[in-house]
Amino acid sequence: MEQENLNPFQIAQMQFDKAADILKLEEWLRLLLKKPDRNLSVDFPVKMDDGSIRIFSGYRVQHNNTRGPYKGGIRYSPEVNLDEVRALASWMTWKTAVVNIPFGGAKGGVVCDPTKLSPAELERVTRRFTYEISKIIGPDVDIPAPDINTNAQIMAWMVDTYCMENNDHYSLGVVTGKPLCLGGIEGRAEATGRGVMITAMEAIKELKMKPNKVTAVVQGYGNVGSHSARLLAEQGIKIIGVSDISTAIYNPKGLDLKDIDAYLSKNKMLKGYPKAEHITPKEKLLEMKTDLLVPAALENQITTKNADKIQAKLIVEGANGPTTPGADQILNKKKIFVVPDILANSGGVTVSYFEWVQNIEREQWTYEDVIRKLNAKMVSAYKAVSDLAKKEKVDMRTAAYMIAIGKVVEATKFRGIFP
Ligand code: NAD
Repeated sequence: MEQENLNPFQIAQMQFDKAADILKLEEWLRLLLKKPDRNLSVDFPVKMDDGSIRIFSGYRVQHNNTRGPYKGGIRYSPEVNLDEVRALASWMTWKTAVVNIPFGGAKGGVVCDPTKLSPAELERVTRRFTYEISKIIGPDVDIPAPDINTNAQIMAWMVDTYCMENNDHYSLGVVTGKPLCLGGIEGRAEATGRGVMITAMEAIKELKMKPNKVTAVVQGYGNVGSHSARLLAEQGIKIIGVSDISTAIYNPKGLDLKDIDAYLSKNKMLKGYPKAEHITPKEKLLEMKTDLLVPAALENQITTKNADKIQAKLIVEGANGPTTPGADQILNKKKIFVVPDILANSGGVTVSYFEWVQNIEREQWTYEDVIRKLNAKMVSAYKAVSDLAKKEKVDMRTAAYMIAIGKVVEATKFRGIFP
C-alpha cells in the first residue's frame, strides 16, 4: 500500500481544495488562500544556567488577516517545524471564520523540550523569542496565545517583553491566555474543552443518542483533553479511557476523573495509575469500544492505518489535525460522524477573542458572561455547519471549510487588491 502523506501543511491544503472544488473557487483565490501571507523563521541565542549558549529555532507564520488581526497559539515542542506551523496557522484562519469572530489565522512555535529547561531558561527562551517576533505582532496586528506546552505564565512573560520593547505601552491585548491578574479572562483554561463538550452534546443530540448512555474515550489528557473529559462527565457521559504521552488507561465501568487528577498532581503522568487497565501501545486506545472518541493530543492520530479499526460512532476533534484525509474517507464510509477540529476546538480562540475585547474595553467579564456567550457562539456555528452539511450532502469538515472559505472570500473581494 502506498505510504500516506502525513505532511500537515499538505493535509490542510487537501482539506481546503475539497471545499474549494465544491465552491468552484477562482484560481487566484485558491493560490492566495492556500499559502500563508508571511512565514517568519528565527534562530536566536539563549544563555543557559550553566553559562553555555544554545541556539534555538522558532517560527511565526501569519496565514491570513483579511477578516481581522492574525491570531493563533505558540507551541513549544522538539517536533515543531515550519510545515506544522503553516498548517496550524491556516487552520486558525478557517477556525476564526467558522465561529465568526473577527480574527485571521497565525501560529508560532519554538523547537525545544520545556521539560528539559529550568524555569529561568524557559523565561529567557520566551523573552528572546518574543523579541524576535515583536516586529510582526501587536494587539491590532497579530495576537499569540497558549498551545501545547505553553501557559499563562509564558503569556505573562510575552506581554511584559512586548510592553518593554514598545516604550512601556500597556498592551495587554498583544497576547491572550494571560493570568487573571494581568487581563486574563475567567474560563479561558477550560474554554477549548468546553467548546468540545458543547459541540459533542450538539452532535449527540443530532445523532439521537442519550447522554447518560454514551461512553467516551479521550486521547491526550492535557489542557484540552482533561477539561473535555470533566465537562463531558458533568453532562452524564461515562469516561472510560484517557491517555497521555506516558500511557493509556481504560476501564469500561468508567474512570474516576477526580482520582486521576489527584494522581496526576503527585505523579505528573498517567504511567503507573493503579485503578485501570493500561493499554499498550497507547495508540490502541483509539480503537477501543466507545461511543464517542475525542482525540485531543496532536496531529495524524487517525490515519489509513487505524481508521478501519475505530469503533466509535462519533469523533469530536479536540486536537488540531488529528485525522488525515485518507482516514476521513474511511470514517465517512463507515458512517462515523466527525465534528472537525476547526469547529470542535474553536472554543479556545472564541474566549481568546472575548479576552481581547475585555482588554480593549479595560473590563473584567464574569465567568457566567463568558460561558453564556461561548455557548451561543458555538451552538450557532455548529448549527450553521450541520445545516450546510445536510443541504449540500457533504461531511461536517467540508461544510465547515465551505462556510469559512466563503467568509474569507467575501471579505477579500470587498477589500479588493492593493494597490
Ligand atoms: P497539552 O500540552 O496541554 O496536552 C497535550 C496532551 O497530549 C498531554 O497530556 C500529552 O501527554 C498528551 N500526548 C502527547 N502525545 C501523545 C500521544 N502520542 N498519545 C497520547 N497522548 C499524547 O496541549 P493542549 O493545549 O491540550 O493541546 C492539545 C491539542 O489541542 C493540540 O493539537 C492543540 O493544537 C489543540 N488545541 C489546543 C487549544 C488550547 O486552547 N490549548 C485550542 C485549540 C486546539
